Amino acid sequence: MDFESLDYKRSRWNRMLLNGFWFILVLTIVLEFLYLTVSDISNTSFLIDYILRPSIIQLAVLCLSELGLKLLKGKYQDYILIFTSAILASVIVLIHNSINYLLLALFLPVMVSIFYFHIRKLLFAFANTLLSLYVQYGINASMQEDLSVVSLTTITVMFTAFTLIAWGIILRGKELMNHLKSYFESNQQLLVKTIWMDKLAKTDALTELYNHMTFHEFFEKLIEQNERNQLPLQLAIMDIDYFKQVNDTYGHRAGDAVLKCVAGMIRSKASMNDFVARYGGEEFAVLFTDKPVDEAHSIVESIRQEISACTHDALGGKPVTISVGFASYNSGEGKEWFFNRADKALYKAKNTGKNKVVVASEPFDKLVKWV
Ligand code: GH3
Ligand code: MG
Ligand code: MG
Repeated sequence: MDFESLDYKRSRWNRMLLNGFWFILVLTIVLEFLYLTVSDISNTSFLIDYILRPSIIQLAVLCLSELGLKLLKGKYQDYILIFTSAILASVIVLIHNSINYLLLALFLPVMVSIFYFHIRKLLFAFANTLLSLYVQYGINASMQEDLSVVSLTTITVMFTAFTLIAWGIILRGKELMNHLKSYFESNQQLLVKTIWMDKLAKTDALTELYNHMTFHEFFEKLIEQNERNQLPLQLAIMDIDYFKQVNDTYGHRAGDAVLKCVAGMIRSKASMNDFVARYGGEEFAVLFTDKPVDEAHSIVESIRQEISACTHDALGGKPVTISVGFASYNSGEGKEWFFNRADKALYKAKNTGKNKVVVASEPFDKLVKWV
């Protein structure tokens, strides 16, 4: 597994760390001034040795670090910050060689490296810590006097133990991240599966149009919406003519190919806001939701014409035709009446020669009288 995600917002975190280093510099200067008030050393030499000189070194290192952060990208920024923390800590320890507990500051690079959750950076930081400890011990005579070899060994063992704990923290973090990653992945797979199942349940496998059940769900919702907002709504029920004959003559497979092709033609003529479904075997239903009646009617008519003009290889180059019942919703008539009107218009189209669109013109009040 790659841990690229650990580099997420690296620049932001490096900026915060460097701000922290600037804060350390300000803090050491303030503390040094406090020491100045209690120190036996003359003010001038204290100012030079304990404030001015170390601050200039730290300032220079921080400026170089700022430059490095601007010029370098990626993991190099991290190494620069670890190294900067090592120098800052070394300067603090060096100027206060009489204060033994300040040696703990040399552990700063290891603490900084934990931010990166990267073993190699942790080892680099540990090397920085040990190097600054031993270099200081090597060049600083008073440190050698104060610190026995046993004490130095104890500090080394302590630093090593702390580094091993940091190592454990990093491993634990990676383990948690792995766990989270697989959790999110399985959640994502589940989501894709649900969407896929939902699509399967709602659509017809052969034509990829919405199926009968979905048509009725949607139909009901659209009627409710129409009653509330008086939006336009038209329904066209389309039925392929003599389709049984097609199957009998050219076979079921050829019939399927024609169904697919006809479905594609209807879909391509309908717009995004129209709802096309395979209502039954060779029956289709189209709901127009955002058009004036005339426009919806002329789309239906152009679908009929296009289908009748299209020849099918599976039928030896012959076309099929469709008959259509078309109705526009009258407010208050309800789902059943509306559908029946369109169905009756289709029946009329079938009985008056087929390959035509019949408009259901009976208004709602007339239908009520007839019943
Ligand atoms: P009409 O002009 O009056 O509509 O006559 P028709 O032959 O088209 O209508 P009928 O209802 O008698 O026959 C419909 C046929 O559609 C019967 C059935 O075999 C066929 N059919 C239904 N579903 C499918 C399908 O998924 N694939 C194929 N190939 N045929 C189907
Ligand atoms: Mg039929
Ligand atoms: Mg038919």
